Amino acid sequence: MTYQARHDVLTGLTNRRGFEDEANRMLTRQRKAGKAPALISIDLDHFKRVNDRFGHPAGDEVLVIFSALLRASVRPGDLVGRIGGEEFSILLPSASESSATAVGERIRKRVASTDFSAIDLDLQMTCSIGVAVGDEQDTDSMSDLMALADRRLYKAKQAGRNCVIDSD
Ligand code: GH3
Ligand code: MG
Ligand code: MG
Repeated sequence: MTYQARHDVLTGLTNRRGFEDEANRMLTRQRKAGKAPALISIDLDHFKRVNDRFGHPAGDEVLVIFSALLRASVRPGDLVGRIGGEEFSILLPSASESSATAVGERIRKRVASTDFSAIDLDLQMTCSIGVAVGDEQDTDSMSDLMALADRRLYKAKQAGRNCVIDSD
């Protein structure tokens, strides 16, 4: 597949297709090595308000800054993808070596304290995060793992947003 088919033009991150492909490969490889990858699902809170207040181009800039923050918050071997509009996922190759919840919490705090005055926006962003680990029940495939992380992300939204949920 070409680079363009697997990457998001705005942020340069892998897109859903590229992420799922690479994550599937990583999951299989790591399991053979006896390791359990962890998946972190992230969704920006009330992102629609950013577009409503500042316009769609400003919203795009926020997404670019957020993507850079994600990349800077993980290790080189970790996989970061833009799964949808303002939804992102990170696959950590080995949960036991990375402490996925701590990574999620670090990202949550960094987002909440990001200053957008550099792009002239009087704005405070937060995000909600779900974490799932590949040795939990019913995580046989990558799509199972993503579904579990997404359910927890949904719970984080329901719990009032700006939080990390890593269990049921
Ligand atoms: P919640 O806290 O429940 O996640 O609320 P939300 O507003 O973030 O979620 P919702 O799904 O209602 O809205 C997502 C918004 O993200 C709507 C859509 O216009 C915006 N969006 C999606 N992709 C892009 C993009 O590439 N650029 C910009 N500027 N906005 C985008
Ligand atoms: Mg959102
Ligand atoms: Mg969303």
